[in-house]
Amino acid sequence: MKDISEHDLQHNIPLAAARADGRRSVVGVGSAHIGDGQFTVIAGPCAVESEPQIIEIARAVKAAGASVLRGGAYKPLTFPYRSDKMFETGEDGLRWLRTAGDESGLPVVTEVTDVRAFQQVVRYADMIQIGARNMQHVPLLREAGRCGKPVLLKRHFGASLRDWLGAAEYILHEGNSNVVLCERGITVPHTHVPTSRFIVDLQVVPAAQEFSHLPILVDPSHSTFRRRYVAPVARAALAIGADGILVDVHPRPEQAAVDPLQALDYRAFDQLMQQLRAMAPVVDRRVAREATVTA
Ligand code: PEP
Ligand code: MN
Repeated sequence: MKDISEHDLQHNIPLAAARADGRRSVVGVGSAHIGDGQFTVIAGPCAVESEPQIIEIARAVKAAGASVLRGGAYKPLTFPYRSDKMFETGEDGLRWLRTAGDESGLPVVTEVTDVRAFQQVVRYADMIQIGARNMQHVPLLREAGRCGKPVLLKRHFGASLRDWLGAAEYILHEGNSNVVLCERGITVPHTHVPTSRFIVDLQVVPAAQEFSHLPILVDPSHSTFRRRYVAPVARAALAIGADGILVDVHPRPEQAAVDPLQALDYRAFDQLMQQLRAMAPVVDRRVAREATVTA
């Protein structure tokens, strides 16, 4: 039995459902076009920590070939405690991210965690991220549907594809047709151990493409939680046909304010980009941006 029925496609997710003519959506984020057939790389720190840090990271990821800069100013952390080491930068962080985006020429994506901060985030971001924990936060989805910016909708770690497309439908239903899905790992009984905090559901990529016209990315950082698994899963995402990836990059990963175990340093990110560019033609793809040749 299919978990997504004909009835669902016609009545519950008519806007997210695959079109009769097979036409897929392309979502423009500044100069990036997610879903246009090329492989789009979104990269940056888990958290925006300071203005010089995000400006430096923007330059580095752009030089390596990223198309969009990521960075969280509002973080839905697993535990409530904040410290000198683990902090959120809020509106300052949004401003720094915007500056880094303008300076590097990369569009920026950042997460919104609260309807009360929605308009503030919209003022600074080119794309709004709704995180895994908020995937079914209906008031947030409705705001996202009315915000006029493209939306990156992460999959909750317990959600079926049906639930996930239902959440996307809320955004589409409010009139925003620019929605990008992002698989970021799911929880099963044998996860939350060092070898797998989550299971990356790669099969959901072709499944989402079968049932929906929306582009789909894979986040190999938050799903694996361990840096040594990031590049293998990123390569698998390209091989399985994802429209791109969302990767944590930090100049000194072990010192990252949030998620220090998973970020790639510049060298590792650059190496990953080279591998993706070498692999892409084998699966009839192209990485969206070339590396900028530097001295
Ligand atoms: C993130 O991208 O920074 C993040 C918190 O991801 P997720 O919602 O997938 O946990
Ligand atoms: Mn993170």
